[in-house]
Amino acid sequence: MKKNRPKGLRFKDLAGRKFGKLFVIDIFGKNKRGYYWKCICDCGKKAVVRGTSLSNGLTKSCGCLVGKKIKHGHMIGHKATKTYSTWGGMITRCSTPSSSNFRSYGAKGIKVCDRWKDFRNFLKDMGEKPIGMSLDRKNPYGNYEPSNCRWVDAKTQRRNQLGQLALDFIKAKKLDGKFLAFIEEEK
Ligand SMILES: [Zn+2]
Repeated sequence: MKKNRPKGLRFKDLAGRKFGKLFVIDIFGKNKRGYYWKCICDCGKKAVVRGTSLSNGLTKSCGCLVGKKIKHGHMIGHKATKTYSTWGGMITRCSTPSSSNFRSYGAKGIKVCDRWKDFRNFLKDMGEKPIGMSLDRKNPYGNYEPSNCRWVDAKTQRRNQLGQLALDFIKAKKLDGKFLAFIEEEK
């Protein structure tokens, strides 16, 4: 690696800047993949990180953050807790076209809010999944987000989904001074 500091216009000096937990001390060198920087992490460890990884947010720590990410205690060996698998199922049916339920979720535009793409935030907002309950959206057309979600028993969930969907088809007309409600068949 070349050690001298470049002067070109395209060179972005990152020294003195902070990216996540990393503080950039000085340039380390350059190779085909770009410039590398000497950094010090908030945890005290030193790290050498590629400039583009810093500026696009890919690397935010010496690695100590990556280690923390899985320390939510919801993966025991290869077995996920019920809460973790509920979260995983939600992410999958909204974002993986090959998943069996994608048709009824992701394909219909139902999304998981950005905050909940991180399991820890989901856990913080929703708490542990209570036994026998499932994740329900109050508005079945709405997204997975804190204001629209709750844990309910299966019966309540079914009633909520059917109730909301049925409302779309219920029509009413006045007949001899009385209202007549009827359900219109889907065309
Ligand atoms: Zn660190």
